[in-house]
Amino acid sequence: MAIDTEKIGNYLPGVAVPSEEGLNLCTHCGLCLNACPTYRVIGNEIDSPRGRIFMMRQVREEQMPLNELVAEHLYVCLDCRACETACPSGVPYGELVEAARAQVEAAGLTPRTWRLSRWLFNVLVLPRPWLTRLIFFVPRLYARFPWRAAVRRLLPRKLRAFEASLPEPRAALPVQEAQSRLMPVSASATSASRPPAGAKAMALTGCVMEAMLPHLNRATESVLRKAGYTLAPAHTGCCGALNVHAGERREAQRMAKALIESFEDSGADYFVSNSAGCGAQLKEYDRLFDAGDPWHERARTFATHVLDLSQAVAPRMVPPKHTLEAKVTYQDACHLAHAQKIRTEPRVLVQAAAGTNFCELGNDQCCGSAGVYNFTHPEMSNELLRQKLEQIEATGAELVVTGNPGCLMQLRRGVAERGMNVDVRHIAEVLDATL
Ligand code: SF4
Ligand code: SF4
Repeated sequence: MAIDTEKIGNYLPGVAVPSEEGLNLCTHCGLCLNACPTYRVIGNEIDSPRGRIFMMRQVREEQMPLNELVAEHLYVCLDCRACETACPSGVPYGELVEAARAQVEAAGLTPRTWRLSRWLFNVLVLPRPWLTRLIFFVPRLYARFPWRAAVRRLLPRKLRAFEASLPEPRAALPVQEAQSRLMPVSASATSASRPPAGAKAMALTGCVMEAMLPHLNRATESVLRKAGYTLAPAHTGCCGALNVHAGERREAQRMAKALIESFEDSGADYFVSNSAGCGAQLKEYDRLFDAGDPWHERARTFATHVLDLSQAVAPRMVPPKHTLEAKVTYQDACHLAHAQKIRTEPRVLVQAAAGTNFCELGNDQCCGSAGVYNFTHPEMSNELLRQKLEQIEATGAELVVTGNPGCLMQLRRGVAERGMNVDVRHIAEVLDATL
């Protein structure tokens, strides 16, 4: 039952709220507005970063009740954090919106579709790896049947879109002998320090990834070995990113503790993620714990060991043996480009794999995947996907490379629905095929 916040005020015992320092950094300049996909589509101030920050401040100062309307606008946000990149004042928007959602969650005001998705994914399926694998085994099995295309034609339009997003076995990437065995010049642009040969890396196989796209985890392990790492046994649990986005701080804390302990016990030097959303979450684990809590410090120390796959490989890069036989572009995943600020390393790697066939997409707007957003807000998600596919079409690219499984599935669905002759691959597959 929803708590009547108009009677008790907007503060709930034990629930963190958006920080005053963070909110006060906003100068209302509006420079983030054009970077915000929801503002660009809807055109309302309340669905812009500035509008949401104003609303969070009003709620914090109890000038406005925490109610369903506030909740609705907070959850229309994709948490893509493009506004953080655009903001000259350093407003930590992701931190603010996640705290505001935790407040909404504690008040029992979470929108219905989010409650359903939370129950389905965060409560029922993802915390149980055996159940996650069992559930995704059926679509993986189905995806191998040769009559899949015929079944797709018989399905209603909405089911057809779902069907098109199922994983399917892909042919080996077409590659050719690399014309030059020299390192690409741009490799020097990587800022990360070079991990020593034989450094021990622990990979995160994750919840959905291992159940739905296990070949990407195997490709990741293979790429790490090729880059000179030794591997510790992977961490197989969920990192809790979806829980944080839904405002479920306590459940995310439990997952974070289990993951940090497993890394500390492994003796590994690095913790490597091949998923942009998970990697961003791992690097921000300290936010889950209050300052003074011993886990806060452990989480901060842990974060210094976390690398995205591209960060782990780029500084140890060897000249590729092969290059891709296709015109290639790279799609920035929001939680790599905006949350982790990683743009150079994946580009260096994809450019080297593409040889002379690389082209820039020229736009880093969210593709509309955003965790479970395509489930909770299908219309907005589809509009953002449409815009992204038009950008891809304009480049003439035949292969799109991305570093996030959510983007991969979303783009594959869009490409299939639109009948585009474009392949979409995870960066781990590309590196495994070319290094
Ligand atoms: S996180 Fe993305 S959708 Fe949300 S306010 Fe910022 S730019 Fe807009
Ligand atoms: S969030 Fe940043 S860019 Fe947006 S209005 Fe506030 S200060 Fe300006």
